[in-house]
Formats: sequence, structure tokens, C-alpha cells
Amino acid sequence: LDRRLPHPGVDDEIGRLVDTLNRMIGRLENAFEAMKRFTADASHELRSPLATIRNTIDVTLEQARTPQEQEAALRSVGEEVDRIRSLAEDLLLLARADSGRMVMQARPVDLAFIVEAQVEARLPQAEEWGLEVQVGPLIHDEILGDEGWLHQVVSNLLSNAIKYTPRGGKVLVDMARTPQALQVIVSDTGPGIPEEDLERIFDRFYRVDPSRTRTRAPGTGLGLAIAAWVVAEHHGTLRAANRPEGGATFTVTLPLGAAHA
Ligand code: ADP
Repeated sequence: LDRRLPHPGVDDEIGRLVDTLNRMIGRLENAFEAMKRFTADASHELRSPLATIRNTIDVTLEQARTPQEQEAALRSVGEEVDRIRSLAEDLLLLARADSGRMVMQARPVDLAFIVEAQVEARLPQAEEWGLEVQVGPLIHDEILGDEGWLHQVVSNLLSNAIKYTPRGGKVLVDMARTPQALQVIVSDTGPGIPEEDLERIFDRFYRVDPSRTRTRAPGTGLGLAIAAWVVAEHHGTLRAANRPEGGATFTVTLPLGAAHA
């Protein structure tokens, strides 16, 4: 259904007003469509872990006799509950971001400390999964930003690199500086990302065909959407690419602090 107003076809004030109104209606329709899609996708994502929980409970009530079987069932339910919880947290965060209620601070932040802390936090997990983490020279310089949110960006990228890289692989973390910006580059020796998906992986709920990427922990499909939103709020960019030698590379570029302007 086209809700736009008929264009009188005259290039006068009324014509221009109709054009403006049509553009506004178009934008509202797009926003409404996006909201509908988001709600539908979110419900779909919640249904699958809930169905697993229901099924596990039914099977356990009927068949699990030994304490070991019951424990295994409880563990499985626990994992699904964790999944629902992280999905709920991510959804809440994006809803707040959409409504403009999320306040970003703009304080001087040393990005290298964030990178260091996040690498340290992820090392045990990488080790457990047989991955080597290589960190290049860190560049201590200040950008203006929100420390908490920047931690989240680096955390999401590292977590993906670890999640999608097969045992024996490497996760590489580097920093670079351009005259106006500071970069954090997270690469891995995993399967990389199909060229046609390089843009779409930043969309909410979008995941590359799971049969092409073996993953250790199911995600929500929201991590990169959140990271991209945070980086955009910082007037920076977040890009995905494939390394010529294989594996994915994510580059965060953030403008240097006011001291350099
Ligand atoms: P998820 O929770 O599924 O990891 P993200 O938004 O973080 O969601 O990522 C979206 C999709 O991008 C992932 O499902 C995966 O298909 C792809 N992806 C992200 N990081 C990598 C990576 N380092 N290597 C390969 N594929 C990746």
C-alpha cells in the first residue's frame, strides 16, 4: 500500500511541500518496517532456546532416571537460559540505543589499555580452545570516547575471532595510527567471511550460513550490530575484510582526541 501523497507535478511551494512530506512518510515507513522485522526476528530467536528447554524438560521427566542423566539435562537447560539472558541483554541495549536513551561519554581514553585488558580477559578461553593470541605493538594515544562501550567493541571482536577460528589457529591483535585516527585491528586464521556477506554481518541477527562456519558457542547475531553502533556513535568506522592468506580482519577506526585536532 502506497501511503504517499499524489504529486501534483508542479514545481511550486505546494509541490515541494508534497515532496518533503513524501520523503518523511517514506522514512517513517522504512523505520516501521525495520521495527517489525526486528520484533519478528527477536521472537524467532527466543523461540528456539525456549523450545529446547521445553523438550529437555519433557524428555527428562519421562526418561531420565539416574542423577547423571538429570544433571546433564539441567546443564543443557542452563546453557539455553544463558543464551536467552544474553539475547535479552543485547536486545535491551539495542532498544535503548534506538530510542536515543543511551548516553555515550566523551572522555579521553587510552585505547591501548582497553586492548590490553580485553586480550588478557580472553587469554584463558583462547588457550582452552588451542588458539594462539599474538598482540602487536600497542599504541598509547588518546581518543575521546566512552571507555565502557569501547571495551565492549574490542570484546565482541575478540570473542568472534576466538569463536570462529578452529583449534591450532591464531588470533592477531594490532594497533595502527593514521594522522587523524587510531585503529584496532583484530584478525584471525579462521574461515573468513564470504564476500557477499561482508556488509550484512553488521545487520541485526544476520549470521553467515552456519554450515560454512563451525562455531563453538552459538551467538545472538547482535554482537557486530552493537559494535558498529558504538563505533558510529564515536564518529568512527568498523570494517570487515578477508586476509589474502585467509581469515577475517576487523578494523576499528576512531578519530584521535581533541588534543590532536
Ligand atoms: P554472532 O553472535 O553470531 O557471533 P555477530 O553479530 O557477532 O553475531 O557476528 C555476525 C556473524 O558474522 C557471525 O554469525 C558469523 O557468521 C560472522 N563472523 C563474525 N566474526 C567472524 C570471524 N572472525 N570469522 C568468521 N565469521 C565471523
